[in-house]
Amino acid sequence: MIPAPFALHRPSSLAEACDLLANHGPSASVLAGGQSLIVDLKQRRKTPRLVVDLSRIGGLDTITVEPDVVTIGAMARQATVTQTTDLVERLPLLLDVANAAADPMVRRRGTVVGACCQAAPGGDWVAGALALDASVLLQSVEGPREVPLTEFVVGAERTSLRPGEIARALRIPAPSPDSVMAYLKVKHVSVGWSVASAAVALSVDDGGALSGARIAVSGAVTHPQRLPELESVLLGTDLAQHDELAHAIDAALAPLEYRGDYYASPDYRRRRLAVLLRRALTDLGSRCCTST
Ligand SMILES: Cc1cc2nc3c(=O)[nH]c(=O)nc-3n(C[C@H](O)[C@H](O)[C@H](O)COP(=O)(O)OP(=O)(O)OC[C@H]3O[C@@H](n4cnc5c(N)ncnc54)[C@H](O)[C@@H]3O)c2cc1C
Repeated sequence: MIPAPFALHRPSSLAEACDLLANHGPSASVLAGGQSLIVDLKQRRKTPRLVVDLSRIGGLDTITVEPDVVTIGAMARQATVTQTTDLVERLPLLLDVANAAADPMVRRRGTVVGACCQAAPGGDWVAGALALDASVLLQSVEGPREVPLTEFVVGAERTSLRPGEIARALRIPAPSPDSVMAYLKVKHVSVGWSVASAAVALSVDDGGALSGARIAVSGAVTHPQRLPELESVLLGTDLAQHDELAHAIDAALAPLEYRGDYYASPDYRRRRLAVLLRRALTDLGSRCCTST
């Protein structure tokens, strides 16, 4: 299909972009890599009167790795993650995501921040960023605000982004040095989108006991989300005890709402997700934890 008519602006500063958005409210859309927005425009799922393209704003495409925090700018492409050595050394989970998400063409155009703003039910980047405790730096004419990604993603393709706001960057705190992390995904065989995905980051205390677990899932469930109940139950669970672990995972997954379609039923997705979580937690546990 052909998109409904819209005006395209290419501001050269964030302030100019914020002014444009402030003047148009909900009838404006931000364009980053366009890998989701252009499809939505063509299918007329979105019909903005104004599209504000961020591509000419200097400095938005940078990724900075500082001792305490990683900052991924709004126009940093997904493919750039794999080329940023200090980033993938610090956060190897993002390399797993980059290798699992979409295809090279989409990753060369699509941005990490755009994928978080899209909050697709099968979003790989958003699940990975959730498990890394990311927050979103937002900017509007009202000023800046920072929102934890857990509060930013409120449903399938729904975020708490307000009209007039631009996500300037994603901020990810440095994990503790003993952290281990992984992203596992079951792909739809033809389109590559997630049937079930699990992002897991674990940390241990000096005695080798699990001291922190951050787990996010997507693909199988209605929208990317953390599993706080499982995270806290795991702190008292020996990851080497496979029956105990399987029971904890099954109990945590039971109340969630699952997606289903001609390709994969809700029950199938739940089972695949349980297997991914068992595998990730067993493998990571064997790397970092002392068995009790
Ligand atoms: C064929 C195909 C396969 C794909 N497969 C996968 C997959 O397997 N896994 C996966 O995770 N993703 C997949 N994607 C989605 C891809 O990752 C997109 O790039 C991503 O969802 C959006 O990033 P973008 O930069 O292209 O954003 P855009 O398409 O430009 O924008 C997406 C949405 O976010 C908003 N937005 C973007 N940036 C900002 C910002 N800075 N501030 C405020 N709002 C903003 C836009 O207004 C729009 O609503 C696929 C896409 C395609 C076309």
